[in-house]
Amino acid sequence: MIISLSEFMSVKGQVKTIQAPFELKTIAFNNMEHEVVKSKPINLTLAHTGERKVEIDGKTEVTLLISCNRCLSDVEVDFDIHIEEEFNFNPRNEDEINELKEVNYLNEYDLDLDLLVQDEIILDFPMKVLCNDDCKGLCSKCGTNLNKGSCNCENTSLDPRMAAIQDIFNEFKEV
Ligand SMILES: [Zn+2]
Ligand SMILES: [Zn+2]
Repeated sequence: MIISLSEFMSVKGQVKTIQAPFELKTIAFNNMEHEVVKSKPINLTLAHTGERKVEIDGKTEVTLLISCNRCLSDVEVDFDIHIEEEFNFNPRNEDEINELKEVNYLNEYDLDLDLLVQDEIILDFPMKVLCNDDCKGLCSKCGTNLNKGSCNCENTSLDPRMAAIQDIFNEFKEV
């Protein structure tokens, strides 16, 4: 949902409460698309504090499907989003002008609520997701999900401590 802040700023001291659904179906992070499985409506309060400054305060909850780092099965991860921002549309210097241009959820005076929530999700994105702390992961040779069964390869009995060490190696690989 796009909120026009220019209209909102026409009245000094105006406070407005908005409830809007979160409309994105996927969130892209680290070259992966993560499906939005459920979300609560975004509750947002806008306040025009004068001098073309707008304070926003919002809350929502979004659940994404993220693959387990070890076995790649889908895990539902909840994001508890709390947005607190202040926009100054009366910039006095270069820095303040750039601040407004830098954010992808502002297009002049139009605030894209979905992109704002997406930004918060990306900031909160976990480095590592596990389906279970004891997830045994996949066999490195044949790819069998070792939580579901064993395979005939050697060294298949990767215990959780070994799996944790492998996570560290995987993280190094990603860098
Ligand atoms: Zn797993
Ligand atoms: Zn195997």
